[in-house]
Amino acid sequence: MPFSTKKQNKKILVTGGAGYIGSHTIIELLNAGYDVVSVDNFCHSDKDTFRRIKKITGVTVKNYDIDLCDNKKTEEVFKKEKNISGIIHFAALKSVGESVKFPKKYYHNNIRSLTSVIVCAQKYKVPSIVFSSSCAVYGNVKKLPVNEKTRLGRPESPYAATKQLGEKILQDFANSQKNIKVISLRYFNPVGAHMSGLLGEKSLGKFDNLVPLIAEVAAGIRDKMTIFGNDYKTRDGTCVRDYVHVSDIARAHVLALRFLEKKNTASYDVYNLGTGNGVTVSELVKAFEKANKVSVAYSIGPRRSGDIPAVYSDSRKAKKFLGWEPKLDLYAMMRSAWKWQKEI
Ligand code: NAD
Repeated sequence: MPFSTKKQNKKILVTGGAGYIGSHTIIELLNAGYDVVSVDNFCHSDKDTFRRIKKITGVTVKNYDIDLCDNKKTEEVFKKEKNISGIIHFAALKSVGESVKFPKKYYHNNIRSLTSVIVCAQKYKVPSIVFSSSCAVYGNVKKLPVNEKTRLGRPESPYAATKQLGEKILQDFANSQKNIKVISLRYFNPVGAHMSGLLGEKSLGKFDNLVPLIAEVAAGIRDKMTIFGNDYKTRDGTCVRDYVHVSDIARAHVLALRFLEKKNTASYDVYNLGTGNGVTVSELVKAFEKANKVSVAYSIGPRRSGDIPAVYSDSRKAKKFLGWEPKLDLYAMMRSAWKWQKEI
């Protein structure tokens, strides 16, 4: 029994398909009737993701285990997979903290992989590209919420700089082409897991995202977690972020592709993806405790380099043009993250 009966006969290349957001997006793409091919070298993920995608969807997704920084190997994928109608480019390194420590690694991986994909998109005439950008491009903003007209500030980390530069490269690229259409989606803070509890964000090292850490503390895998800084000028002194469910983020990619498919001429645009609700880190920990009836031990540590005090989104543009709105609230995010933690 196929996962979806709404066949599109369109093949989408997902880079970073084994990763957190990429894997959730593959599920949404399959559900919408697209064929999917993935490229992921598992530098920040594992092969088990594809078994999990199969368990949820019944579909075995083909993955090319290559480094996208390798132009030749990337081109081989495009040569083999004829008629790719869209690319969603997730593949990147994403830790703010790690990027501050190892900037070269971030500039190399995130920019080189992007240019390698673009060169192939042009050569193999792929009409639509969706790029994973981030609210990190706004820098330390003064006026909240941020919308797409907010001026981009100084990037607070090499990671943020790679996203600003990535957007600029794509904008220049789209402007120089006749019919390549590009959307950059600026995610705020994707959290949570697939509602089945079978897919979610894995903690894969010391530079990890917050919610997997919270879940591991609740599960007793770690003794406690650290909140970095409680002396910011926010409600309770901890950083404010705009948390949005990963499946809501994933769905936005399908809407972005459909939007691009309807366009006939080259274009470039950006969209924020957030809920518009600013939540402090302390509030997030409390929401996790309340939603799942568990306790989470934490201590307060020093501020972390590259972190900005507060950012949350005005996402009305995505609603107006893409028809996107987040559907899942903070408690659903926290419950799904806990369900996933109990699965792994
Ligand atoms: P992730 O680390 O889970 O997934 C990224 C995937 O890309 C991994 O599976 C990794 O193995 C792969 N990859 C990285 N470099 C590669 C290369 N050179 N060749 C082949 N594969 C490579 O990250 P994610 O959370 O799914 O993030 C996806 C995208 O969204 C990234 O571009 C990230 O910067 C962006 N983003 C993420 C967040 C977040 O909080 N998760 C927020 C804003 C933006």
